[in-house]
Amino acid sequence: IGNLVLDLSVLESGGLIDSNCFSSSDLNLFMSQGNQAWSNIRKQIQKLLNIDNPILRDNDLLRSKAFFKQSDVRMHLPANIGDYTDFYSSRQHATNVGSMFRDPENALLPNWLHLPVGYHGRSSSIVISGTPIHRPHGQVLPVDSEQPCLQPSKLMDFELEMGCFIGRGNELGKPIQTKDASKHLFGLVLVNDWSARDIQKWEYVPLGPFGAKNLATSISPWIIPFDALEPFRISDPIQDHPKPLPYLQCKQNWTFDINLEVHLKTKSIQFSEVIAQSNYKYMYWNLAQQLAHHTITGCNMKTGDLFASGTISGDDPNSYGSMLELAWKGTNPIKLSNGEKRKFLNDGDEIIMTGYAQGDGYRIGFGDVSGQILSPVSIG
Ligand code: MN
Repeated sequence: IGNLVLDLSVLESGGLIDSNCFSSSDLNLFMSQGNQAWSNIRKQIQKLLNIDNPILRDNDLLRSKAFFKQSDVRMHLPANIGDYTDFYSSRQHATNVGSMFRDPENALLPNWLHLPVGYHGRSSSIVISGTPIHRPHGQVLPVDSEQPCLQPSKLMDFELEMGCFIGRGNELGKPIQTKDASKHLFGLVLVNDWSARDIQKWEYVPLGPFGAKNLATSISPWIIPFDALEPFRISDPIQDHPKPLPYLQCKQNWTFDINLEVHLKTKSIQFSEVIAQSNYKYMYWNLAQQLAHHTITGCNMKTGDLFASGTISGDDPNSYGSMLELAWKGTNPIKLSNGEKRKFLNDGDEIIMTGYAQGDGYRIGFGDVSGQILSPVSIG
């Protein structure tokens, strides 16, 4: 709420909201209660915060217990995250990567327009914004060499993504249809899916990324519920050529207009500089389609599972969501105002991603997700 944090456990223990879940150290119990409960609690909180409501407004003691300055609190991971899935759902990103590493004429692989491509990621290394990231060691194949070696990654990158938390899960064997997505999807956070491109290049065939992505994934602490994002729901992209199979067709739109920015701060500049401006609307496959595809096999979602969107790149080169694309595989380095150039991230560089939806006279802010690259740890 502005610069303040409202401690819902204080409202709950005072009987001011009808809930039983906010003294827990994570949101999982609340998330498991379903979309009626989510909307209901949101309405009760809005009522309490209304200027015409005296309960909080006129009670100094209660207010001093329930409100904290954001600068005085330390945020933790919002949920106990079980499984983490990373999709690859931005058409422009997939096209850019396919053009760089394969063939601009056939940038998208034959399956890409038929299904939301994804892989199962690693939840143990999902960290909260502000957590520093050591440059990872990994096996790479140096250029002009036939022998791989173990070394610190030289091509550290970020990926600008958004993440969706699963609220209610499904039973094993019972797929979720696109029309039921709103009963299961809880809300969105910002995601930086750190990526070591040299490790990725050597390891990813045939089963996809492994160590290049499992080193860490950073998320922003505040989950923005879909009720708050309703005014920013916009038309999904047209999917005509080809038309997806019926289980992936979707009547309700699941695309949202959310502005996203990536800032870079180096050791020698005082303030961070914007290096990319993108938008969550640049997604080809939406959340309902990702959920339907993920569960069509019978795979069960659990409360607290996280879906990441995949790198979100728009058409314009300054809307690309990774260093790999912004500097086009190192051929077009990013230039900062003090003359520094970057192809990939140096030790000491900090990446800060922010996001907001702009309403008429108000903003829904996502806060930010930040992380600094530290030198590699000693591995003996
Ligand atoms: Mn990713």
